[in-house]
Amino acid sequence: VLQQPPLKGGGEVKRKLFISAVVVLLAVTPVWAQDVTDPASFFGFKLGSDFKLADWPQIVDYFHLIDSQSDRIQVKELGKSTRGNPFLLAVISSEQNLANLEEYRSLSRKLASGRGFTEEALNEAVARGKAVVLITCSIHATEVGGTQSSPLLAYRLITDDSPRTRRIRENVILLLVPSFNPDGLRMVKEWYDKYLNTPFEASRMPWLYHYYVGHDNNRDAFMLTQKESKLVNRVLYHDWFPQLYQDMHQMGNRAARIFVPPFYDPLNPNIDPLLVREISLTGLYMAEELQARDLKGVITGAMFTHWWQGGFLRTGWFHNVIGILSEVASANLASPIFQRKSDLRAGFKGLQAYRPAVNYPDPWEGGWWRLSDILRYDLEAGQALLDFAARHKEDILRNMYRMASRAVKRGKETPPFAYVVPPQQWDPLEAYHMLEILQEGGVQVHYAKSGFVADNIPYPPGTHVVLMSQPYRAYAKDLLEPQRYPDMRQYQGGPPLPPYDAAGWTLPFQMGVRVVEVTNPFKAELVRLDKAEAPRPHMPKPGFGYLIDTRLTDSFRAVNLALGAGVPVYRIRAKVRAGGKEFPPGCFVLRRGDRGSRAAARRIVAELRVPLVALKEKPAGLYRLKKVRLGLYQPWLASMHEGWSRWVLEHYGFPYTLLHNAEVKAGSLRDRYDVIYIPDIRAEGILRGRPEGTVPPQYAGGIGPEGLENLRAFVEQGGVLVVMDAASDLVLKPMGLPLVNLTEKLKPAEFFCPGSILAADFDPGHPLAYGMPPRGMVYFSRSTVYKVIPSFKTKVEVAAKYPHKNLLKSGYLLGEKKIASGVAAATVGIGKGKVVLIGFDAINRAQAHSTFKVLFNAIYFPAQ
Ligand SMILES: [Zn+2]
Repeated sequence: VLQQPPLKGGGEVKRKLFISAVVVLLAVTPVWAQDVTDPASFFGFKLGSDFKLADWPQIVDYFHLIDSQSDRIQVKELGKSTRGNPFLLAVISSEQNLANLEEYRSLSRKLASGRGFTEEALNEAVARGKAVVLITCSIHATEVGGTQSSPLLAYRLITDDSPRTRRIRENVILLLVPSFNPDGLRMVKEWYDKYLNTPFEASRMPWLYHYYVGHDNNRDAFMLTQKESKLVNRVLYHDWFPQLYQDMHQMGNRAARIFVPPFYDPLNPNIDPLLVREISLTGLYMAEELQARDLKGVITGAMFTHWWQGGFLRTGWFHNVIGILSEVASANLASPIFQRKSDLRAGFKGLQAYRPAVNYPDPWEGGWWRLSDILRYDLEAGQALLDFAARHKEDILRNMYRMASRAVKRGKETPPFAYVVPPQQWDPLEAYHMLEILQEGGVQVHYAKSGFVADNIPYPPGTHVVLMSQPYRAYAKDLLEPQRYPDMRQYQGGPPLPPYDAAGWTLPFQMGVRVVEVTNPFKAELVRLDKAEAPRPHMPKPGFGYLIDTRLTDSFRAVNLALGAGVPVYRIRAKVRAGGKEFPPGCFVLRRGDRGSRAAARRIVAELRVPLVALKEKPAGLYRLKKVRLGLYQPWLASMHEGWSRWVLEHYGFPYTLLHNAEVKAGSLRDRYDVIYIPDIRAEGILRGRPEGTVPPQYAGGIGPEGLENLRAFVEQGGVLVVMDAASDLVLKPMGLPLVNLTEKLKPAEFFCPGSILAADFDPGHPLAYGMPPRGMVYFSRSTVYKVIPSFKTKVEVAAKYPHKNLLKSGYLLGEKKIASGVAAATVGIGKGKVVLIGFDAINRAQAHSTFKVLFNAIYFPAQ
């Protein structure tokens, strides 16, 4: 499974023969690499020139060209991006190293495993081995510098013969991903060229630069929902096991010119302390090298905290990989900017005032800032990192082995010893999905061949076990346990110090999977599982029909499969008994007699592995689900939540139509839609959009007051309007709903909850909460909590509430009392229709599997 095909099909033998010829030639003509085409000749301009961006197809061609010209590079297409562009990996090293690539790769894997070396063999291996370094460029496509600099970096590493570059070639195997987001580069380049020399030059695109997830494409590193994520994840934890990983980004331009580690507090306690030192050391070495070349404005130990995992270099921290973030100040894409010294600002984590500081000894003083500057900083930072790897490769290789074997040992000797995933689950399919995600992240998963007891709890055969004695212990533990973000204040009694991104992410909580931590040593007959996959269920003999359990999030995939095939689907309002078990309200039914139902049932079992239960007779409270005409609101704000919503809806088979401002403003919405869903977007943005003059006119403005009126008319005429989280403010006051937002006016010093998981009580009899457990968990990120104002006119039906205490399950919560017993989700009747209010983020980057059902239930509301 872990094998990778040779880098170049068929070319291997020829290459080796060629290399021996070259080795002979080298003695006579040392400068043989001069036949490699330089980037300026190939692209027809100097990369980094003002107003010019190289496009992805040209960059791909350039990499293939130098691959054909040099034996110091091998270029491979790893696969296709979301929109079908080639996704490249360039392997760069000395010709001798590339000729023995397989040997270095398997050594790298063995070191990452933390097993199998005696002290002596380890010394020999690290002396012989090469540091494997991954550099990925411009995952955020508007941060253009990384990708634009990548041909220059490759060319220099291949052709330069300075002692430094030779040292890098001899000791390092560089894995270069010239673009982590080729689709994005193509979009950004097209947009930039189109509006160059117009008032909208370098304006923000009205859509996402990753088709589904935009800027959140680097928040997908453990969930791995997107194609690009999967490709890089394979390089990291299945194929190459690099010891060092630099992810090249750009940041705002109000202060420093480049950030490199150390990171800022708080520190996630699961990261090996040795790795923390290595990350800081590497970053400081880079900073020193940049300073030695007189590059001003290098900042360390600021802005970015060492807590969150979820970004690619950051998952590295939990896999013993030295994960380095570099962030260079941005220009306006390829358009230069001019900044006065008085434009520059401090007052963020790690820099109090804009003046020399220990972590910022040489402030940038202002002036012109252009793409060529960004490329210069990126190139120097990349080479400094590679030189660090070259100079310290033995330590880097040895330390990776040390950390991995320490993790293996620690998992055997100290608690927790394992996380057990019992077969009895609210949603057993989600347990498999969770294990599958862990395995993709390189985690080893076992299952029990026979029953066993751990911490006095008996478990049956077939129970899954994630042992903590494994090289990626930190990763598995961090994803499976609750996070406890420390209470750190900006000053005494002041607001909390917010984490960079989320405070908590516990997978079992988000996916609704029951996991038990084992705190005492235990014995069990365990077998390593190749691939977690739900067993194929049996086809039952239907009486009245097949019942599909609504507790399964995947039940909606089954429903949409059947509806898509034209097969009628029914739902049951009440509890029902089938197959000797009781099922909660909201279960789905395929009737035996309906045309195509048997074929659909077979596909559901085979393709989706969703179990079907024989239903003997017609249950009470059965009603037919109608096909729903769903409108998904897409603003011209490039909303990531809209993109994630789109991905989730497609993944679960919901057909939808995108609804834009013009259509909302035009009205008559009820003629075309049964349900309109507005994702988690600020009400202000929906109403007003981007200001006139900042974007091309067709993308300026929002739905406006007339759009809001049309949405109200849509509901009054029988439509269902679903609003999530921040979009609630669009309807609460403006539509006169008898609810208020409890969190609206709270200051961070009294209430603060950044990206955390809270307990919530669901009413499983409410159609919005069908299939939810009575006590569930929701993802809360500066979210909305409602309070119902008693009203005679309007009926509010509460589907979920926060408990009166102990709300926090993972992450951070300040001021629990402010939202305790508040309403988390509700429906409000208006005229013939309904407004559905979901106050939390029921999607959360496609991680919150257990609450997808709340959104899906809302979509099937009209069929009541
Ligand atoms: Zn970025």
